[in-house]
This record gives sequence, structure tokens and C-alpha cells, in this order.
Amino acid sequence: MTEFSRNATASGTLYVVATPIGNLSDISTRAITILGQVDRIVAEDTRHSRKLMQHYAIATPLSALHEHNERELAPQLVEQLGGGRSLAIISDAGTPLISDPGFNLVRLAREAGVRVVPVPGPSALICALSVSGLPTDRFAFEGFLPAKSAARRARIDRLRSEPRTLIFYESSHRIVDSLSDMAAGFGAMRQAVLARELTKQFETVHGDALGPLAEWVENDPNQQKGEMVVLVAGAAQPEEGAVTDKAEQMLVVLLEELPIKQAAKLTARMTGINKRALYDRALQLKQ
Ligand code: SAM
Repeated sequence: MTEFSRNATASGTLYVVATPIGNLSDISTRAITILGQVDRIVAEDTRHSRKLMQHYAIATPLSALHEHNERELAPQLVEQLGGGRSLAIISDAGTPLISDPGFNLVRLAREAGVRVVPVPGPSALICALSVSGLPTDRFAFEGFLPAKSAARRARIDRLRSEPRTLIFYESSHRIVDSLSDMAAGFGAMRQAVLARELTKQFETVHGDALGPLAEWVENDPNQQKGEMVVLVAGAAQPEEGAVTDKAEQMLVVLLEELPIKQAAKLTARMTGINKRALYDRALQLKQ
């Protein structure tokens, strides 16, 4: 482990600093030191971040960097970094750039050869995953689903066979519609978890199949309040060697033109599934 130094910041460096997602104590001592020592902090919403600064008596000047000014401001900030100033970027909550501004700044800074240093801390997605009880070995973070229902359903449809645990951010005013679309798209029996108001007074982590979960949230207005993460179990994988839906579709098409033996052989070559299993399935399909 590297020792923590009192003079923690270096000139010409951009620090990407994670801040709490609700509980003000969830910030590292290193983050507090760095925020106190850099020449300037860029924050998504300066009024919001001022509360954190006041709580930790940090007097570093703050300026705003949000989705509306990031493209214009990022080159100027990179110029300042090139001139030897040190900057820290923070967002309203959690880790900057994770469904938050900062991507343009970090990309430009790295392209310009500026040192970009992570100062890790909370992120709602990892916090939620760690208590969800769903598989954590492989997961896919999907950010926010589209706001419009048709686009949201189409996205869910594309994710239907994803085997990894899926993690979504959702807002309180869309949670009922989103859960209902998820239950329709992933199936009402698919396991899911709603992680709401993490690290705050009304923290709730509730797991159930998507159908009952959607109903529970719809019937209880309290569950529709605050900030929330939805986690959905990945699609169950067919047993190794089993004939998948896709392989069966291929067989059906090939059987229109070819004898059973050849259709099974070609499908086996394309899918890697056992030829004998495909032959047996083709026989059943022919009957
Ligand atoms: N950068 C943040 C992070 O690292 O988690 C995420 C910012 S994103 C704009 C805000 C979304 O994160 C919320 O709509 C919610 O989905 C999730 N979120 C943030 N804080 C949360 C909390 N305390 N409990 C549950 N979800 C939270």
C-alpha cells in the first residue's frame, strides 16, 4: 500500500474524486485532503456541492461543469492543467462520469498527456450490487433506460438473453412504468432487486420476482420515492450441449431444404452443439 501523504496533490493533475451517495460520512480521508489542496474543484452543481464542502471545511474555489457547458469548458480546463494547475472533478453524488458529467474532460485531459488520478469511493451501482444477493461475478451496468416507453421496451428486448446481472439506474417518476416494462420483457418470474435510498434514512433493499416486485412498488407510493437502482438477474443459460432456441430456429429453416442428417450436421457446425442432440430434435420437429 502507498503511504498517504499530507501534501497529496501534484501540479498539472486532474483528480476524479468520488463523493457520498447520501451519507456524508462516506468519503475517504484522501478525498477530503485532495479536495482541500487542489487549485479548483469542478462540480456538477456548485450549490449542491457547497454543502459537502462546508461540512468538511473545504474552502477550495468551485466552478460548475455540467452537461450543458462541458464541451465548451473542457478544453479551457485542460489548458489550465497543462499550465500546471491541479483540478478535482466531483459530481452531485458518487463517482463522477458514472451517469454523470466528466467524460469529455477526462478524455481530453488524457489525450493531452495530463495525469488523471482516481480517488475512489461510493457508486450507487456497486453499492446496490454488493447487497443485492444476485450474482456479482459478471454484471452489466445499463445506466438509465430510455424515458419513452417504446424505446425502453426495445432496449429491454435486446437485453432479454443477457446472462450477466443487469443494473439500471431509474428515477422515481418512471419506476412504476419501468418495472412493468421489465416484467413484460424479461418475464414476470425473473428475479430482481430494488435498492432505494442507499446509505440514507429510508434505505430499502427488496428482492422478488419482477411481476410481484412491480406490483408491490405500484401499490406503495413510498416505494416510488427517492433514488433507486434496479438489478435484474441474468437470463438462465441452457445446459451445456442443450439445443438452444437459436439452434432450433436454424434447424427449422434448414429442414425446409435439406434432409434431417444434413440439417443437423450443418447446425452442429454453426453452433457447436452436439450433432446427435440436433438430429434427435430435428426428428421431433419433423413429426
Ligand atoms: N455518479 C453516481 C454514482 O456513482 O452512482 C450516479 C449519478 S446518476 C445521475 C443518479 C442515479 O444514481 C439515481 O437516479 C439513482 O438511480 C442512482 N443513485 C444515486 N444515489 C443513490 C442512492 N443513494 N440510492 C439508490 N440509488 C442511487
